[in-house]
Amino acid sequence: MRLFQGCAYRPYSGAMQTLDPGDPAALADEVASRFEQLHGRPPQAVVAAPGRVNLIGEHLDYNGGLCLPMALPHATYAAVAARDDDVVTVTSGQADDRFEGRLDALGPGDVSGWAAYAAGVLWAMREDGWDLTGCDVVVESRVPVGAGLSSSAAIECSVALGAVTLAGVEADGAVRSRLVRACMRAEAEVAGAPTGGMDQAVALFARAEAALLLDCRDWSMRQVPWAPAAAGLALLVVDTRASHALTDGGYGARRRDCEDAARRLGVELLRDVDDPQAALAELADDERVHQRVRHVFTELDRVRRTVELLDAGDMDGIGPLLTASHLSLRDDYEVSCEELDVVVETALDTGALGARMTGGGFGGSAIALVRADAVEDVAAAVSDAYDGRGWPAPGLLTAPPSAGARRLR
Ligand code: ADP
Ligand code: MG
Repeated sequence: MRLFQGCAYRPYSGAMQTLDPGDPAALADEVASRFEQLHGRPPQAVVAAPGRVNLIGEHLDYNGGLCLPMALPHATYAAVAARDDDVVTVTSGQADDRFEGRLDALGPGDVSGWAAYAAGVLWAMREDGWDLTGCDVVVESRVPVGAGLSSSAAIECSVALGAVTLAGVEADGAVRSRLVRACMRAEAEVAGAPTGGMDQAVALFARAEAALLLDCRDWSMRQVPWAPAAAGLALLVVDTRASHALTDGGYGARRRDCEDAARRLGVELLRDVDDPQAALAELADDERVHQRVRHVFTELDRVRRTVELLDAGDMDGIGPLLTASHLSLRDDYEVSCEELDVVVETALDTGALGARMTGGGFGGSAIALVRADAVEDVAAAVSDAYDGRGWPAPGLLTAPPSAGARRLR
């Protein structure tokens, strides 16, 4: 299987060139034409679901904690049409093999590779009681794949929304909540990559000019005002281009540490701990677990303080919290890496108000909150830092908060 980026990275060359999210209407036309070329008929609908960055609240979702993601303008576009048999086909501009399978053979063990994310969603939706027909799906993505910006949830949620549209059902909040669960199940059970639900929730519920405060214990959510441009700020996203797969499964190991700690503390989720200081004292005999849990508690506190500041309209004020989050992820949770640290340090040295890794870590992307007129300087400094180390150029995006999954035509 070959996977390549949905859009070409261009090296930094004087004026900042960022990864282009493209124009949604033009991209919808493009994927519709591609569908027609492949299937000899027009699609019945075109939908889009975005990638995301998490402002703060990292590795808290599976602990029942809080996170504050926002949608990127970069999205995955899916053109869909029903078939009159029980066959499902999925074609992606980011993969060279076409998937074809029967509706009743899309579950765990039936589908492998990238198609597990797309076709697995249809399996999970049927498990949840959706009455689906066979369908053709053509996908095209502007979300960098494997960069920690959640291309996986973007493809899942685009397929899910496409299927709902074909079923003639309006995608209201209740339907979207069901789709979050189905997409999570597809990723965990069919693709074999357990996720905590943040990516799918923000892909389906994000609004422009807002970040989504998500409570991963009861799944309640609230839109928090987040319009950096109005405050003369911008959020710069840097894809480090690094992806360090740890042999021990870094994500799984962190998750297990948290689950073990919760068991020791007699709670279901670390979020349920009432007295963090007492809990940390109880875990003092295990240095590693102690550190992991300390990150969870301090990060939860940072999310709450970030939300208070944003509610009060103080966007500058969150900078130090972003940076503190990075240090906690680097030193206590130990999920950063050299590339992420270099991006964060360089951004801060160039005047960023705050910066941190975002997403699971071990590579992926970092964010920096910068004054709008300093975006180019910070981007140039990061590119130079990469260049000086002989690393391949980083991917650069600016990220105005954007809309969640929606039908485009
Ligand atoms: P991220 O979600 O951060 O991009 P993941 O490892 O969670 O990284 O998901 C990336 C995987 O999702 C890819 O390896 C591929 O299997 C699948 N995927 C995502 N977008 C697409 C796409 N447009 N076409 C095909 N597969 C995709
Ligand atoms: Mg993912």
